[in-house]
Amino acid sequence: MAYTLNVCHLYGDLMNTYGDLGNILVLKYLAAKMTINLTSEVISLDQQFDPSKYDIVVFGGGQDFEQSIVSKDIQAKKAGLTDFIEDNGSVVAICGGYQLLGHYYIGANGEKLMGIGALDHYTDKQKDHRFIGNVEIKNEETGEIYHGFENHQGITFLGDGERPLGKVLEGHGNNGQDKTEGAIYKNVYCTYFHGPILARNNQIAKHVLINALTRKYPDADISAQEAVKVGETF
Ligand code: GLN
Repeated sequence: MAYTLNVCHLYGDLMNTYGDLGNILVLKYLAAKMTINLTSEVISLDQQFDPSKYDIVVFGGGQDFEQSIVSKDIQAKKAGLTDFIEDNGSVVAICGGYQLLGHYYIGANGEKLMGIGALDHYTDKQKDHRFIGNVEIKNEETGEIYHGFENHQGITFLGDGERPLGKVLEGHGNNGQDKTEGAIYKNVYCTYFHGPILARNNQIAKHVLINALTRKYPDADISAQEAVKVGETF
């Protein structure tokens, strides 16, 4: 294969609700069609995150208990992850992972779990309530429509430099108030979609792969890479 991209599956053993692992399987499948060899490894508790080793980080969702453990451990990875993001590394962060990239998450029991503040959002708690169900959103920059399933008690409010992944057409999204869903910052895609998101919305997988490819191989022949058709099934 002409190209290699390395994926860090961040806390893949703890943060993997609703088959979020499928996002990596989708990246692998589409990458192979784009003549990209995709490797992946789990980086978890007490392990170092070395930003120079990876092209893509995938950070899945999790329950409050797992998040409380990850919230403590991830502080030691804060500098590496922030450098990676600022250096235009590609990230896909789902639900609990999305929450911990921001400033903090207030759990269902009221406990404040610190994030790393690499992105400028924060997540508050709902009062004895969760958002559960199908979501449909429109990416207003590309016109793409994305479909997913949400299950979260946290309500997220975006901050400086972040724009939503899409505008809510159906469902609740970030907070049920401002019609935003998810966040985009540089090459970071955050969302509450489980399911996994990239299997149902392979346009996003394609953006992630192209972003990572052109960052690592500025001379890559993108027209050849884009031969993968949107909506292609497995
Ligand atoms: N525990 C978090 C919440 O309820 C995240 C849930 C998830 O990742 N599905 O908001």
